[in-house]
Amino acid sequence: MSRRPVFLFNSDAARAAVFRDAFARDLPDLAFADDMDAVEPDDVRYLITWKVPERLHRFRRLEVVFSIGAGVDQFDTSGLPAHVAVVRMVEDGIVRMMQEYVALAVLALHRDWPAYAGQQRRELWQARPPRRAEGRRVGFLGLGVLAQAAMERLAPFGFPLVGWSRSPRSIDGVMCFYGGDQLAAFLARTDVLVCLLPLTDETRGILNTELFAALPPGASLVHVGRGPQLDADALLASLDADHLSAAVLDVTDPEPLPHGHPLWRHPKVVVTPHVASVTQPETAARAVIDNIRRHVSGQPMNGLVDRTRGY
Ligand code: NDP
Repeated sequence: MSRRPVFLFNSDAARAAVFRDAFARDLPDLAFADDMDAVEPDDVRYLITWKVPERLHRFRRLEVVFSIGAGVDQFDTSGLPAHVAVVRMVEDGIVRMMQEYVALAVLALHRDWPAYAGQQRRELWQARPPRRAEGRRVGFLGLGVLAQAAMERLAPFGFPLVGWSRSPRSIDGVMCFYGGDQLAAFLARTDVLVCLLPLTDETRGILNTELFAALPPGASLVHVGRGPQLDADALLASLDADHLSAAVLDVTDPEPLPHGHPLWRHPKVVVTPHVASVTQPETAARAVIDNIRRHVSGQPMNGLVDRTRGY
């Protein structure tokens, strides 16, 4: 009797239980395994993991590696044969959480929440000049799945939306810019900057002195991409010079942010511990099953990574 091909799960037990049930129900032709050492290596066709395991070369018949997370910057794909597809996590649960977080952060900055929190600590009852949403331009670095989903939530408030990507994009209701040559023009039209870029060689350190200087005075930042994209000293200098007004940071470098780091206590900074959005096992299992069906029937998988581009 021929053996069933294996879907190998390399993450925590709670998530494994959800995936195991979903696979048993929806993909009974695949065997589910969650112990790397107990599995027969030649049976493994699919692997889901956070990081690429060291002994990956054992799985000589591997076809697809799925990332548990939305990014693949933590993946070292250098040892992966070219025919193995790499797929990042695109699933409803991650998308919804990111919509909530970005809406929360943009509204908080729009309504001066960090400044009012400071006033409360000083027992200061003082209104700040209000600004209409129509006059507050929200600009997204990155126009991918998550940025576009977040924009859908923000549009009804009336914020003018601007975006910047690597290649040209056309999105209804969004003024789109692309490439290095158009970055300054994009930044000049942005009052709240939201970073939703993947971490690549090109985006590492992109939130730097020069970029902050190109934003209008009083602009603010929501950083939900990856920590190494931000030059924290440049941000602190820009906040202290009263050029930028505030920042909401969900990602830092390193993580966790070390004790005593100036970002922790800066009055214009809100820090959250990389919680903007996380993979939800139920919806993630559905997304991976859908992708395996696509792969088997020769259709393009959702979230397929271009390994030369790095995202
Ligand atoms: P996508 O791959 O769908 O979108 C990426 C976007 O970034 C694309 O618009 C792409 O341009 C643009 N981009 C990439 N490189 C460049 C560059 N060099 N210059 C300009 N634009 C560039 O990704 P997602 O929207 O799904 O996710 C984005 C990132 O969000 C993830 O990689 C991850 O780092 C982060 N994230 C953070 C989470 C958190 O909890 N804080 C949770 C989930 C994700 P183009 O359109 O031309 O391809």
